[in-house]
Amino acid sequence: MKLAAYALFKRCFGLASSVTHADLRDRRRRLSRWFHRQQDLFVSLPCWGLPMDKLPDVCCGSVETDGQRRTLLKSALGFAAVSAIGGLQWMVPGLAEAATLTKEQRDAMTPDQVIAMLKEGNERFRTGKMQEHDYLKQKRISAGGQFPAAVILSCIDSRAAAEIILDTGIGDAFNGRVAGNIANDDLLGSMEFACAVAGAKVVLVMGHTACGAVKGAIDGAKLGHLTALLDKIKPAIDATQFSGDRSGKNDAFVDAVAATNVRNTINEIRQRSDVLAGLEKDGKIKIVGSMYHLVGGKVEFLD
Ligand SMILES: [Zn+2]
Repeated sequence: MKLAAYALFKRCFGLASSVTHADLRDRRRRLSRWFHRQQDLFVSLPCWGLPMDKLPDVCCGSVETDGQRRTLLKSALGFAAVSAIGGLQWMVPGLAEAATLTKEQRDAMTPDQVIAMLKEGNERFRTGKMQEHDYLKQKRISAGGQFPAAVILSCIDSRAAAEIILDTGIGDAFNGRVAGNIANDDLLGSMEFACAVAGAKVVLVMGHTACGAVKGAIDGAKLGHLTALLDKIKPAIDATQFSGDRSGKNDAFVDAVAATNVRNTINEIRQRSDVLAGLEKDGKIKIVGSMYHLVGGKVEFLD
């Protein structure tokens, strides 16, 4: 009977008839060792960031049998708790909850680190691994003061909300929005405030694909106050080198003009704002451009 059951077992699991009972015992031992190694990993990784009373039973069960592991786990939990309070999530991607930047954290960052932070935020967004944002908590923390690391100049397009696609929270970034992300006097003044007064380290101009304002400029659309706004985008049309259909119907041309328009806006900022140009020259800020791809969700930083 036992032999018949063993033969059936081998058939069900597709084992060759030459596999012996001893082989199976060996495989079971190896599987057991592998399983215990995974348990060790399980104890040290997924418990991070969870309060002690919410640890899964399987985690605590393993920890209780080993004093050293318990100490290690407590250290990890302590670090996670400090992170949650201090907002180290900005520096340590993947932690569960995003916290508002403090003055100390923002001041300690270089412009390059802020750019890296924004890139990491977009990568989390693009891959569906965004941080958990407790907006009410962020609101409470930031009510007494704001210490944003960047000012973003982006289009009003409803699909290009910078805070979401860069996975930032309340108080972390200024966001100036205008159709076609052009720079006028008011926006220049806003960005000067953001950097020279409030301490932001990066000016990020962000265009996007399939931009209606850019299409309108290419096609010569006219409507109320919009006509004058689109005139500010038009220099990008002639400045864009492109072979093929140069109309608003050609998505590739529209996107190429949008990228040129981002570069034009950056030039405009440097030429017309002594304040921002001076801060950049002194290495206190960086002015960078990017294109947000509606399809795929990537924010591509331009050279
Ligand atoms: Zn747009």
